Amino acid sequence: MKNDIKRIIFIYFFSLIFGYFIGAVSLVLLAVSLAYIFYLHKRTQSILDSSKRKAFPDPYFHGNQPDILQQLESTLVKLRLKDQSRKKKIRSLLKEFREATKALPYSIIALDYQDCITWTNKTALKQLGIKTPDDIGMRITNVLRDPKIIELLDQKEIENIKVKSPLDSEKILEFSCLLYGQNNKLIVARDITNLEMAENMRAAFVANVSHELRSPITIFKGYIEGLNRRQEEIPKSWSTPMKEMAEQAEKMSQLVDELLLLSKLQTETTIESHSKVNVPVLINQSVARAKKLSSPKKHFYSFEISDSLIVNGIEKEIYIIISNIIFNAARYTRNNGVIEIKWFANEQGIHFQVKDNGVGISKENLPRVTERFFRVDSSKSDEKEAGKFNNTGLGLALVKHSAIRNNATLKIESKINEGSIFTVSFSPSKNG
Ligand code: ADP
Repeated sequence: MKNDIKRIIFIYFFSLIFGYFIGAVSLVLLAVSLAYIFYLHKRTQSILDSSKRKAFPDPYFHGNQPDILQQLESTLVKLRLKDQSRKKKIRSLLKEFREATKALPYSIIALDYQDCITWTNKTALKQLGIKTPDDIGMRITNVLRDPKIIELLDQKEIENIKVKSPLDSEKILEFSCLLYGQNNKLIVARDITNLEMAENMRAAFVANVSHELRSPITIFKGYIEGLNRRQEEIPKSWSTPMKEMAEQAEKMSQLVDELLLLSKLQTETTIESHSKVNVPVLINQSVARAKKLSSPKKHFYSFEISDSLIVNGIEKEIYIIISNIIFNAARYTRNNGVIEIKWFANEQGIHFQVKDNGVGISKENLPRVTERFFRVDSSKSDEKEAGKFNNTGLGLALVKHSAIRNNATLKIESKINEGSIFTVSFSPSKNG
């Protein structure tokens, strides 16, 4: 800055002397001022131009120009260098990201807020047959035409869906949809053919073993029942073991029946025809059984039932849902507890709901209670006290699969030592 002032004083001093000698001071001062302004303008323009061209400024003027312009120029150079290294970093990050997504065995598709494809990784091209650049900008539902894809995009909670591969109907893909940014979506698909095969083999194995066990258990049960009827011929010391054998044989028989039922619910593809099901009647039947079995606990039952409300479904499967939830409420509610049963409709659908103030389920166990054979440890001690319910650990798994087959959803809310609410909701569209 100091140099700039010195330079201006120097220029104007000599212009003044020169003007004095030729007798035109003001004219010379005006001409010099205009020339200086023109020079500054040209230099500033040249610096700005070079910054636009991304080239370094003309070295001809470097060192001769005013300090202020030098500062401007060096700041611009610094900013440009910083910008270049940032862009380089972003480019290499992008390259790494592309390489990483290429190596992923999952298909990844990015969608904008209108569900149009904005980007896909290489696996999506091979696994889903998406073509780039042709399919970029197209709505995903026009590229992947399975109706389940529409369900996937519409769903509010993250749930995976299984879809046959559009390129090979033998292959099964699992799709999930994640939301990001401003209503953008990321679709992730993975090949689960082997997993599905293993799951089918496991289900077939369980079904076969259960089937094979059925006949010997029936024979045992028959002999034990026969012997129990002839108590007088059996030594007294055998009476307790005989009673226990009868109980265990009954339990095994129930377990085998429920396992076979579960595998049927899970695997049977022939959908039985849906008919109008009178749920209030099924509730009454289940409550009558539950009351008989839990009478020592003196439970209080309350009802809020819309008698005229009918649902479309498979009656025996809806009975499985209703009876298991009511039996569980009776089993896991302590003495003098309250069990509230509701059957009602609202805008969201038709609901069967059972609320109890029993032992409740902890937060960690809640997501697991519908798994096969999952039991909360503490409930084992309640088992005996509850009476003779069929306590196989399969009840809620049966409820879950029956609900799926009847287009219903199961929701469980519970707080340990406070109680539980089980709600099965039938969709309004299927029951309109
Ligand atoms: P189980 O034959 O053991 O009752 P279920 O599949 O019906 O098998 O239930 C799984 C587990 O869920 C039970 O062991 C119990 O711990 C828990 N559970 C189910 N219903 C209730 C309820 N109403 N209150 C508390 N816990 C429950």
